[in-house]
Amino acid sequence: MFNKVLIANRGEIALRIQRACRELGLETVAVYSEADADTRHVRFADQALCIGPAAAGQSYLNGAAILFAAHVSGAEAVHPGYGFLSENADFAEQVEAAGMIFIGPEPRSIRTMGDKVAAKRAMRAAGVPCVPGPEGGLPEDPQSILKAAAEIGYPVIVKAAGGGGGRGMRVVPDAGQLLDAVAVTREEARRAFGKPELYVEKFLEHPRHVEIQVLCDTHGNALWLGSRDCSMQRRHQKVLEEAPAPGIDADLVRQVGERCVEACRQNGYRGVGTFEFLYENGEFYFIEMNTRLQVEHPVTEMTSGIDVVREQIRVAQGHALSMSQADVVTQGHALECRINAEDPSTFMPCPGRVSHWELPGGNGVRVDSHMSAGLTVPPYYDSLIAKVVTHGASRAEALARMRIALSEMRIEGIRTNVPLHRAVLDDNDFCAGGVDIHHLERWLARRTN
Ligand code: ADP
Repeated sequence: MFNKVLIANRGEIALRIQRACRELGLETVAVYSEADADTRHVRFADQALCIGPAAAGQSYLNGAAILFAAHVSGAEAVHPGYGFLSENADFAEQVEAAGMIFIGPEPRSIRTMGDKVAAKRAMRAAGVPCVPGPEGGLPEDPQSILKAAAEIGYPVIVKAAGGGGGRGMRVVPDAGQLLDAVAVTREEARRAFGKPELYVEKFLEHPRHVEIQVLCDTHGNALWLGSRDCSMQRRHQKVLEEAPAPGIDADLVRQVGERCVEACRQNGYRGVGTFEFLYENGEFYFIEMNTRLQVEHPVTEMTSGIDVVREQIRVAQGHALSMSQADVVTQGHALECRINAEDPSTFMPCPGRVSHWELPGGNGVRVDSHMSAGLTVPPYYDSLIAKVVTHGASRAEALARMRIALSEMRIEGIRTNVPLHRAVLDDNDFCAGGVDIHHLERWLARRTN
């Protein structure tokens, strides 16, 4: 049990977590960098402590400063949000060693899922479908490497076990390029992730990105909360997400959801998590598990009616989940547009002062944002300034509500990607549902030609 939570994050997610804490009657401690002193997550918190200069390395990524703030404020638990220290097993361990609760999975789960070879092994053992490829890391011997790839069939993808953020992977079209690709990726992995281990798997050419949200307590209960489709990506960054993933057989999704939950039980997983899959030709292929709350969790909240963050905090307090799988009934369709402070055509970040800020509203419209008129978007962090989420009885209704919501939105003083979202919502292929992960980039290329 705990009564006071330090939220080790900033922006919309700090505010989102703070709201959940307040609903549960918990006191909140905000931490902030010198660049964020005027923000709303700081203003609304019961207590707020500056943890360092603007640079994230010296503030939101500075575990020692955050632990000190937790100690000084008397916080009994730490919520890491997403990004920053949320998937840092060492930090989670330090929080626990200091006698506080880390609102997330056990450090050993973070560590296992952060190692993609170990994660894939754990998933296979639980019957979660994985991308075809040998179990375990790549050997050093060139002949064995060539044999492993030949058995999969080209094209293959060489990936770093410790990779993340879309880095440390290379597509290999034929055997002639394999050994060079392995050498280059190994060196990159050694330098970027401090770990040279690689693995190889089949490269899927036109997959969709479909993920499953799970929620687990410490009493052996684990639930899956439906699917999300995050195929609309640019440079591996999600731009627009939806729930459920359109056009996929409900029985198949249920089977995969049940395997995810089984994997959580087998591995003693606790808290919220997301199983990410590539989906191609009617099959799911596990790629990785995120051991934290995700940006796109609201679309699941809108369709399931479950407050994912509230459950996450309650589970960390030692409570059993408030519902069983039979209670999880998803309804209708939800969409989320990530609104970034960036140029809608060049994608260059556009920090600066917001002079005018007008948000949409109405039935089935939710906006998660930390911004308001007069506030400044600092240049130091992620450019996400708002998430516009709409829910409708059908996908068409959610789309219609999103078009109206974006037409009502007015942000002045900085450039945003609202015009991009408006245009995407008129794209026939996207509107039909089920586009692959390359669709947005193809569409952008057509638009500029
Ligand atoms: P990261 O942790 O860096 O995000 P992932 O394993 O999640 O790495 O992969 C990131 C992206 O790379 C995926 O969303 C997908 O676009 C692409 N990718 C990864 N594995 C494959 C694969 N086997 N086939 C095709 N694309 C892949």
